[in-house]
Amino acid sequence: RVINGTGVLIHTNLGRSPLGAKAVEKVAEIAGGYSNLEFDLNTGERGRRGAFLERCLALQCGAEAATAVNNCAAALVLMLRELAPASRPEVVISRGELIEIGGGFRIPEILESSGACLKEVGTTNRTKIEDFAKAIGSATGILMKVHRSNFYQEGFVEEPSLEDLVSLGREHRIPVVLDLGSGALVSTEELAAIPHEEMITEALRAGVDLVCISGDKLLGGPQAGVIAGREDLIRRLKKNPLFRALRCDKMIFAALEESVMTYLEASEKPDLRLLKMLGESCDALKERAVAIVEQLATLKVECGEGVSRCGGGTMPKAEIPSITLDIRLKSIGLSVAAKQLRMRKTPVVAYVSDDCLKIDLRTVSPEQDGEVVEALKDLLGESG
Ligand SMILES: *Cc1c(COP(=O)(O)O)cnc(C)c1O
Repeated sequence: RVINGTGVLIHTNLGRSPLGAKAVEKVAEIAGGYSNLEFDLNTGERGRRGAFLERCLALQCGAEAATAVNNCAAALVLMLRELAPASRPEVVISRGELIEIGGGFRIPEILESSGACLKEVGTTNRTKIEDFAKAIGSATGILMKVHRSNFYQEGFVEEPSLEDLVSLGREHRIPVVLDLGSGALVSTEELAAIPHEEMITEALRAGVDLVCISGDKLLGGPQAGVIAGREDLIRRLKKNPLFRALRCDKMIFAALEESVMTYLEASEKPDLRLLKMLGESCDALKERAVAIVEQLATLKVECGEGVSRCGGGTMPKAEIPSITLDIRLKSIGLSVAAKQLRMRKTPVVAYVSDDCLKIDLRTVSPEQDGEVVEALKDLLGESG
């Protein structure tokens, strides 16, 4: 367990999105006993794994059908294996979307390792619908679009609209597949002062045949890859032998199901830990910061300001104003102090900026404030 003082909400190195309280409870309940994972209570015979979860996912995504696998990368591999087989191995994709997500995860490498043949079209900055049209042939399996999760393109740029890609796909009866990465399930601009992130519902309304997103990015659930879209295609994916190798276990199903239920049951903002942190006001954070500073009785820690980020390769431009604890030290270096905080029994991960050590309270849960106080007392006691 680590206390995340970095202000990076979906911190890949710190386990991405924290689960909501109800999901955590559900996992504990399911993990410690038996469940109807693959059991039809009605007939008393073998049932379909995840049938209820799939229904919930489809409802929330506004899709005909949906399913879940291990992560978004797995979803991508599965879709490629099924829809770009040896007989039609070509995947048409814009040169502007052959991206690296992070941690060495490169879209072109994933495509090729799945046995698909890359058919790159357009240029880095400009791709037109005609480029896609010209590339289509008897070996075309998929028209592919990948969300530029962690960078933006500005200036002399062009890309075909999703609608144009969809009509081209329909004309040639070739599935259009979108890897959306984070893919919000609610309007992000309503959660915080951040831009709108493309939603899975929007992509499906545009007519995309299949979309995949990560469960532990903006969705705020466990590591999983959600695939939503056409019912016949989802059925095919689930029949592919690879599906068995990529399927989720009961704990992930429990956590994902509970997270998606939270969306379905919400009248306004879903009561999910990640979304709450994202939308927390600076006033509320400031109140906590003041209370912490008061408990410390030292002039070395004061309330400061910082910028929280989504992280996880999501919305890199989104800067969320936040409140920090600023620790100013003279006797020991800032990196030494940061290490001392990290080496605690419950590590506190702070960051260095503006000549001080900062702890962003947006990513620290209020229940952890007491531990932060203890950590700072120990640090300042030692450093004098
Ligand atoms: C993050 C991301 C992935 C990988 O998702 P995982 O769930 O980590 O496998 C794939 N594609 C895009 C566009 C992403 O942003």
